[in-house]
Amino acid sequence: MSTTSNNSSPLWGIDLGGTKAEGIVLGPDGLKDIRFRDRVPTGAENGYDFILNQIKTLVSLMEKKMGYRPDKLGICTPGTLDPGLGTMKGCNSECMNGQPMKTDIERLLGLEIEIANDANCFALAEARMGVVKEKFPNAKVVFGVIMGTGVGGGLVVNNHVINGLQGIAGEWGHNFLDASGGPCYCGKSGCVEKVISGPDLEKFYFKESGTKLVMKDIYERYRKGSDPHATKTIERLIHFYGLALSVIINILDPDVIVIGGGVGNIDEIYTEGRASVEKYIFNHRLDTPIVKPMLGDSAGVFGAAYLVA
Ligand SMILES: [Zn+2]
Repeated sequence: MSTTSNNSSPLWGIDLGGTKAEGIVLGPDGLKDIRFRDRVPTGAENGYDFILNQIKTLVSLMEKKMGYRPDKLGICTPGTLDPGLGTMKGCNSECMNGQPMKTDIERLLGLEIEIANDANCFALAEARMGVVKEKFPNAKVVFGVIMGTGVGGGLVVNNHVINGLQGIAGEWGHNFLDASGGPCYCGKSGCVEKVISGPDLEKFYFKESGTKLVMKDIYERYRKGSDPHATKTIERLIHFYGLALSVIINILDPDVIVIGGGVGNIDEIYTEGRASVEKYIFNHRLDTPIVKPMLGDSAGVFGAAYLVA
C-alpha cells in the first residue's frame, strides 16, 4: 500500500542526534496529531554501522506501532549531505562524515530518504507548525537562525527547505564577520560563529576579565549592570549580531526570521539587537519580524517529518 502519496498521509521522521535517535509519525493535524514518538540510543561511539542498525531498530518500532511502512522517511542529522559527493560532512558524530548515509539507509530500509541538517529542520518545523504558522501564516521566505554552541541557519521557501547546489544554503555562521574572532574549525578565520557563539562569547569574557564564566552568568551580570566586562561582552554580541544578520536581510529579505539556540534566548537580541540590525541594513527602516521559536527541542524531529511532506 502506498501511504505517502497524498497530503493527508502521516509523515515519518527521525531526528538523529549524537546520543539519541528520535522517531515520530505525524498525522495531518501536526502537533495535535502525533501518532508515534519514541527514541533509541544512537550509540555513535560504536561506529557508523551501529548507528545504521539503531535507525533500523527505530523504524521497526515505528512500523510495529503503525502497522505499515511508508515510502519515504525524513531524517534530521547534525551535518549536511553533500549533493555533489553524496556523502555526509560537518557531523559532530565524526564517524558519519564521508559516509554515503542516504544511500546506505535507503538500501537498509528499502525506502526513500530525505536528509537535512538540524538548522534546516528547525526552520522547516517552525515554518510549518511553529511560530511562523501561528503568527505569520502568509510568510513565503523563512530564515531560521541557530545561535548557540555553534551558529548556523536554514532557509525555507514556500514550506520547503532550500539546500543549495553545494548543500551550504543558510550557512551564515561561516561568513567572515570580524578578524578578532580568530581561527575557526572550518579552516577560515573571523567567522560569525567565532564572534557570536556562546563558547566564543565566553572566551571573549575570559580574555577581558580573567574569569571563566558561562553565558548564563555573564548575562546575569550584564542585567545587573555590575560587571563592565559582562556589559562589554553583551554589547559586542548585540553589535556583531546586527552586522551579521543585516547580510542575510540584504540578500534574502525574508518574510520572517526565527532565532533558535541558547544565545537566541537573550531578550536584548529582540530590542537592542534589532536596532543594531536596522543600523546596518540597506533600508531606512526594518520591517522584518525577528521572533523566538515555539517548538523548542522538538523542532528537529518535526522538521525531519516535514522533509517528506
Ligand atoms: Zn568557520
